[in-house]
Amino acid sequence: MILDLFKLDGKTAIVTGANTGLGQGMCRALAQAGANVCGVARRSCAETAELIKSDGGEFFEIIADLGSTEKIDYIISQAKEKYGHIDILVNNAGIISREDAVDVSEEAWDRVIDINEKVVFFLAQAAAKEFMAQGTGGKIVNICSMLSYQGGIRVPSYAASKSAVLGLTRALANEWAQYGINVNGIAPGYMATNNTNQLRKDADRSEAIIDRIPAGRWGTPEDMMGAVIYLCSDASAYVNGFTIAVDGGWLAR
Ligand code: NAP
Repeated sequence: MILDLFKLDGKTAIVTGANTGLGQGMCRALAQAGANVCGVARRSCAETAELIKSDGGEFFEIIADLGSTEKIDYIISQAKEKYGHIDILVNNAGIISREDAVDVSEEAWDRVIDINEKVVFFLAQAAAKEFMAQGTGGKIVNICSMLSYQGGIRVPSYAASKSAVLGLTRALANEWAQYGINVNGIAPGYMATNNTNQLRKDADRSEAIIDRIPAGRWGTPEDMMGAVIYLCSDASAYVNGFTIAVDGGWLAR
């Protein structure tokens, strides 16, 4: 029956940036759908673990800094050691740096590009190698942004990295669809998380943003749950290289 296609029982999902925000919401959704969730973060995921435990789900924490590619093999081996196989990767961890373009240093540029773009690619590559070796296919979901489509203001490295992730999602989908690997993206709109703290503290900017969102509110981690389950499940078997906006209508405007 159709709802069975959305079930993730027995699947292993790796989610980066699992300790808070959208990553936490998506971990919770994946666990509720039946997956064993490996949450990757540079600090404790205790809150996420607690939420999933209260839902009756399965969660395993992997502490790793995603500022470089150094920990990628460790992440994959930890997940495999714990659950025996890997089926899903959600590339969610990311940072934003708000600064006038003329003031951006090379170091600040690299910091954003390394986490948001470089590690996203190499983690996807490592997961795809596992999916191919297992012969099982798999699901990769990359978290994009409205700034995969737009330039934004005072966030050039972020806009560059998120535009790259959308392109990467298409490129990898084209190469890996033949192995039963679906690579897709989710582009969140303006969501109430740490990422937008600065914006939401600025009353004028916050009001201007809400005024432009047809749904009339900031998004939440819960708003990501349906899209991530769809893209991580058999329900999206013939969806390749597409990025779904979860934005309250921002892009439609
Ligand atoms: P968030 O609350 O700031 O979460 C970002 C996550 O990435 C946190 O778990 C963070 O860990 C982790 N992270 C950052 N640097 C890391 C590193 N070096 N190593 C390991 N983990 C690291 O923001 P969010 O809104 O949930 O963001 C999740 C994703 O959605 C990001 O890719 C973001 O760009 C994207 N997004 C967000 C919005 C929005 O409006 N919020 C809109 C579009 C796209 P720490 O807590 O330790 O920093």
